[in-house]
Amino acid sequence: MKIAKTIQEMREAVRDARRGGESLGLVPTMGALHEGHLSLVRAAKARCDAVAVSIFVNPLQFGPHEDLANYPRDFAGDCHRLEGEGVDFLFAPSVEEMYPETSVTYVELEGLSKRLCGGSRPGHFRGVATVVAKLFHIVEADLAFFGQKDAAQVAILRRMVKDLNFPVEIVVCPIVREPDGLAMSSRNAYLNPQERKSALQLHRSLNEVERRFQQGERDPASLIEAGKNVLAQEPGVRLDYFSIVDPDTLVPVTGLTRNALVAVAAFVGSTRLIDNAVLTP
Ligand code: AMP
Repeated sequence: MKIAKTIQEMREAVRDARRGGESLGLVPTMGALHEGHLSLVRAAKARCDAVAVSIFVNPLQFGPHEDLANYPRDFAGDCHRLEGEGVDFLFAPSVEEMYPETSVTYVELEGLSKRLCGGSRPGHFRGVATVVAKLFHIVEADLAFFGQKDAAQVAILRRMVKDLNFPVEIVVCPIVREPDGLAMSSRNAYLNPQERKSALQLHRSLNEVERRFQQGERDPASLIEAGKNVLAQEPGVRLDYFSIVDPDTLVPVTGLTRNALVAVAAFVGSTRLIDNAVLTP
């Protein structure tokens, strides 16, 4: 696996690899890799001749009082895992490399940036869209792989690709869960044993919404209330939002005649977790 720490090294490495017209897949990550990330790598390996992974803890997508400094980092372990998956290129730039002091350009998606996590994490999606736009320009991949775990991020990046005509196809991979149902996340490493138990309530609340939906409940407000009630049963969990939205616009739905995204965000102790499910009529 070729490890590139600068933009120039990365551009040269992937250009060389693509001389023969090979297809290239990109998997952007913030590292501390788990099976969720590796599922994206495997999907990329299955569809592309060569695979590039990026590891960059992007300061632009963290708020001033968030966990940027403490975010889990395990570069040696990540390299080992990626080698094991047969990844061809790893792009692991420094913050100074990605954001020189002179940098003043950002990608903002009007309206969309402020929905779901964008409401409680101002500037988060602007940071995501900006770094992914830069990665798309640096790596010039044909396909880019993202997890349904971050469903709002998927909506934002799909829209960015459409609006700004990026020549890349976005591929979305299913949520990978622990055996008990907790969605895998690098932030699960913050949870103590009691919090780890409480964290399962997010998945339980989504299950309850899906169960009622399957039984015929079609009122979004009733479903949201049912989901919130399940969360409230666990005192260790503090709700951030529980919403049912259009998967593309992230606007709350008033009816359930088309696919809808049920999205939950909650604090377990000081750890903020997210999860979601899709309701298909
Ligand atoms: P992150 O390192 O958290 O920025 O995540 C990098 C990519 O991995 C994003 O596209 C995430 O949606 C995806 N991802 C994270 N956790 C999971 C999971 N449990 N299942 C599937 N994809 C995931």
